[in-house]
Formats: sequence, structure tokens, C-alpha cells
Amino acid sequence: MSILLRGGTLVDGTGAAATPGDVLVVGDRVAQVGRVDEVPADCRVLDCAGLVVSPGFIDPHTHDDAAVLRPGALDGKLAQGVTTVVVGNCGIGLPPVRLIPGQAPPPPLNLLGTAAAFAYPDYPSYLQALREAALQVNVAVLGGHSALRVACCADWHKPASRHEIDAMAARLDEGLACGLAGFSTGLAYPTAIAAPTAEVTALARVSARRHKPFAIHLRDEYDGVWDALTEAFEIARDSQAFLLLSHQKTAGPRQRGRARELLDRIDDAARDLPLALDAYPYDAGSTVLDAESVRQSREVLVTWSVPHPELAGRTLSEAATALNLPLDLAIPALQPAGAAYFHMDPADVRQILTHPRCMVGSDGLPEDTCPHPRLFGAFARFLGTWVRDLQLVGLPEAVRKVTSLPAEVFALSDRGVLRAGARADVAVWSRTEFADRATWTHPRQLAVGMRWVLVNGCVAWSPRGSGEAGGQVVGG
Ligand SMILES: [Zn+2]
Repeated sequence: MSILLRGGTLVDGTGAAATPGDVLVVGDRVAQVGRVDEVPADCRVLDCAGLVVSPGFIDPHTHDDAAVLRPGALDGKLAQGVTTVVVGNCGIGLPPVRLIPGQAPPPPLNLLGTAAAFAYPDYPSYLQALREAALQVNVAVLGGHSALRVACCADWHKPASRHEIDAMAARLDEGLACGLAGFSTGLAYPTAIAAPTAEVTALARVSARRHKPFAIHLRDEYDGVWDALTEAFEIARDSQAFLLLSHQKTAGPRQRGRARELLDRIDDAARDLPLALDAYPYDAGSTVLDAESVRQSREVLVTWSVPHPELAGRTLSEAATALNLPLDLAIPALQPAGAAYFHMDPADVRQILTHPRCMVGSDGLPEDTCPHPRLFGAFARFLGTWVRDLQLVGLPEAVRKVTSLPAEVFALSDRGVLRAGARADVAVWSRTEFADRATWTHPRQLAVGMRWVLVNGCVAWSPRGSGEAGGQVVGG
């Protein structure tokens, strides 16, 4: 089976200037890039005149851990040109958590769903389930620190004992041996905040030994971000792991306008530390509902609530009014719950996301009742509003940030670049039409302008919608 993408504008993912040309795909590989004169017999020809042909996009920061196993659940990503997602971020993951009957997953693990989603007692069983599933996109899996702590520690409110660290390291190493793409932590969360730096370093070292990265959601994303960054650098230095700073931001009223200073700190560290960062093109974050994030935000939206599902999509003040409670009592009344926090400055977000080491990571939360629009919009908003309309970065550099840069970070050596011999993950899109449609009130609206998406040579997206499931487990 071969497919000829004829007459497009090729943006190859390396950062090189766009060139007119064709791309020939044979089986799951790119066979030829440039001018293709000899068309194989029974080759399907797609007319790409007026369209950009680029590598498929890699979303390095997702919480699609359960969603990737549900048919059709990744349509919102395919409509944005995403061909690979990295799951297991922020220390949050399904394996190797085992819950006792009736036990709810503790926050933030509950961002991935209810107890029923936690059906994998170890990494091999989850990776096997992925390999047997009809995956719409490629999936790379990080082993999550909080998931390991909940599985291996008698009391995760305390630092892990030597014995518990050994147990977590053994679980993680077993996972890395059979296909995990790295290790992640989220030290701001209740399930991990008790972990001392040395505990994280011990686990990051397990990842480093297998030449895999270490992703960190910092211990503090507000006023303590500076010390938290120092801790991340220390862990990376001591463990020798490639450092990935997750959803990097300056947040809260007192850190407003300090993105340049933050990036200077990161650039300083990068002189002797291999590192990258990810961010999403919005001035609001989203995670579980917590009082400190509420205090740091100018506006808060409820994204889900178990006792009050009807309040999802309302502001926290509206929810409090509906419950007839003051704000500080509405927070516990809504739990377990999630929220979106307007706590960033748009200029800071732009500065961070346009940094050459920064990738676009959606950080979307597909299980939320009313998710942050980044889930369905991050890539379209970046390439549409930011790159085409505002021209914050040029097109070749923008495409590099969503293709070869994440491919390098996760060592996906045959993806992220359009070249002969690479895996055929390809996005074909209209530069003028590509736009996000997801809003705060209608967050699950598909992006528009993506014409065809190939995943390992399979037509995963076309003007008719989703098609073949060609995804594989990658990054192991
Ligand atoms: Zn996070």
C-alpha cells in the first residue's frame, strides 16, 4: 500500500525553510521526499496543493492514559495533527496502582478516572494492553512517581523508606525494560509532596541508567518556583537524567512578568544540563481543585465535581452561590473535583512557549466533565493564532517545536522529521484554515483545518473524520 502526498509545501520538522514537493509513503515508512516522478501502481494520490505537509505532531505532555484505550477518544488530537502522545506525566499514571474494592483513587490520580480505570497491577500489563488495543496514535508511557508511591509505600504522606524506594525502583526498572519511555514526578501533589529530593533522585537515576528522561512538575509553581527549579536541576545533575520541565510557567500575582528571569535561570542551567520544557498556549492551568491554587488565581472554573457534576463549567464563585456556601467552604463541598485556574500572564506564557527549548504540550484532561480547551485546541491555537496570525515564531521553527524537538527528547529516532526511511507519521493541513474551536463553554469542539493525518502510514484522519488505527507503543 502506498500513498503519494502530491504538490504540498513541505516543512520537514528540522527547522529548515519550507520547500514545494511530494512525499511518497510506502507501508509504514516515508519512501521519498522531494519530487516524485515514478508513482507506484495502485498508489493512492492525495492532492496537497495549497497545504502544508509536515511530520505528525508529538504531544509530550498528556494525561491520555485511559483515553488512548477508548476507540475514538483521540479524535480531538488527530484533528490537531497529533500522531504521538506521551502519557504518565506529572507522576500520575494507571499502573502499578492497585486499589482495594470501594477505594477511590487519591487526588491527583483521580484525574485519570474512577477506580475502574486502575486495572493494571504492573507496567508490563498496561503496556501489553496498549499493544493489543487499536491505538489511534502512537503512545509513549512514563512511569509516574505518585503511582509508584501509592502502589509501594505503606503511607504516602511520609518519605519512602529505603525498602520502599528499592521497591519503586524495581517496579520502574521492570517497566523501563519492557517499554516505558522515562520517569515523571509531580512534587506539588499530596501523593508526592512528602518525597525528599533524594527519593526522586534515586528514581530518576533508574531512568537515566536506561538513557530515558526525567519529567518534573515542580514542587511549587507559585512563589516557590525558584527553589523548586533549583531542586529540579539538582535532581538532574545527581541522577544524570535528561531533564524535562513540565508545563513551565510563572504563576500567581507575585510572579507576574518574571518569565524572562525564569528563562535566564533555565538557560544558565542548560549550559551543563541537557534539558527541555513544555508549555501550552493558554494563560490558565488546570488540575485537581485545591485551595492554594484558588488563592493564586484571578478566576477559577470548576471542571468536574463528583458530588456536584451539575456545577462543572461554572466559576467557583457561581458554584459557591449555588451551594449557598462561602468560597472557602465550597471547595471541600465540591471535592473530589477539578478546576481551571486563571493564574498566568499572557505575555509570560508567550515568552516561555517561544523559547527554543520549549515544546507545545497540551496537558489536556480528557476525563474532565468540562475540560480546559487545551485538550482539543493547544496545537491548532499555537500554529493558528500564535504562529500564523501573531507571527511569534516562523513556521519552520514552530513545526520543529512540535515535531523533531519532542522526538529528540524522547529519543524517537525515526519520527519527528520528514525524510526517507522515517516512520510515516505525517500531518497535512491548511495553513490559512488551521484553528482551534474549543472554548471554555464548548471545550470538546474539534480543531479545523487538518486535512489528512497518517500514523505509521495508516490514514488516521481525513476530511471524513477518524479512520484506521495505526498507533504503536513507542519510546521504549
Ligand atoms: Zn502537572
